Amino acid sequence: MKVVVDTDVCKDHGQCVFASPEVFQLDADGKLVYVAEPDESLREDVEDAADVCPLQAITIEG
Ligand code: SF4
Repeated sequence: MKVVVDTDVCKDHGQCVFASPEVFQLDADGKLVYVAEPDESLREDVEDAADVCPLQAITIEG
């Protein structure tokens, strides 16, 4: 599974971080950082994160 966040669209509000904290985090500057190729076991959480993102900035490939 590959995760892509459109950083032009993302506003760093962090809803994805609550849904999938293993994959999405906010760094010390409040910028979103994420695991680009998370383990398959995290798929459900990542799908939840994509669903809750108000800007639809998260794409799951594969
Ligand atoms: S929920 Fe969407 S807009 Fe908000 S930080 Fe995550 S990817 Fe960015």
